[in-house]
Amino acid sequence: YNINYAPFKNEMEEIGGVIFVMQDITEQQRLDDMRKEFVANVSHELKTPITTVKSYTETLLGGALEDRETAESFLNVILNESDRMDRLVKDLLRLSRMEFKQAKWNKVPLHPCSVLEETVEKLKNRAEDKNQNLVFGRCTEEIEVMFDKDGLEQIYQNIIGNAIKYTPENGEIKIGCHVEADFAVVEIEDNGIGIPEADIKRIFERFYRVDKARSREMGGTGLGLAITRHIAEAHHTVIEVESSMDKGTRFRIVMPLSSRGEKNA
Ligand code: ADP
Repeated sequence: YNINYAPFKNEMEEIGGVIFVMQDITEQQRLDDMRKEFVANVSHELKTPITTVKSYTETLLGGALEDRETAESFLNVILNESDRMDRLVKDLLRLSRMEFKQAKWNKVPLHPCSVLEETVEKLKNRAEDKNQNLVFGRCTEEIEVMFDKDGLEQIYQNIIGNAIKYTPENGEIKIGCHVEADFAVVEIEDNGIGIPEADIKRIFERFYRVDKARSREMGGTGLGLAITRHIAEAHHTVIEVESSMDKGTRFRIVMPLSSRGEKNA
């Protein structure tokens, strides 16, 4: 504890008592540690691609440029690593805007299914590349949620993108939407690698990955679900995860159905 105290005086200028202020510094310490860990993580994430870009460029300048085929493959590595840094910085900016509450949400009535269909359209190629089946199940159309459209797309993209990334070739990803009480529920279920029980509660943390190497290989930044959680919270939305190792994972996005009162708010 951090303790401060000051005497206070009455009208007669006599000391009437002492005020103690006790502050819990464990919380401060925790936030401080988190900040340090975050900076260490960002530095580490950037260091790897920078080292790669630098060494490949040096090798090119050292003579590899003469051989066209080698040069081309080296340049592709440099481009890939630059893309990785680009994604990382963009995700970091997105996250920091949300954490500083600077994100502006334009909440409008949306059909969770129509937005889902649009997002799936954009991700279809990635699933096709892995010969995966993207299956649209039950979709209740006449429902509405109050959501920022880009925000909702981002949530879908991150979760469906992960389902594609963490499901082997020829796998299947089932997508659907239905109503449960006052909520619209979007389910995204894959039959991929699964998430160990102990890790499930941590995957929404910044930079937390079950398998760093695999995430890197898939082009992940480790920030997708942290961003997803922020957007969800700003829209009173809860994301549930159930998973079974080597069997698959189901994400449930539980959004309050829009009511007239909210629309006018
Ligand atoms: P990344 O960029 O690493 O994919 P995310 O924040 O999107 O970062 O996800 C965090 C971690 O959660 C992933 O690295 C992965 O270990 C795990 N994960 C997320 N979705 C799935 C899924 N559908 N199947 C298996 N693991 C998943």
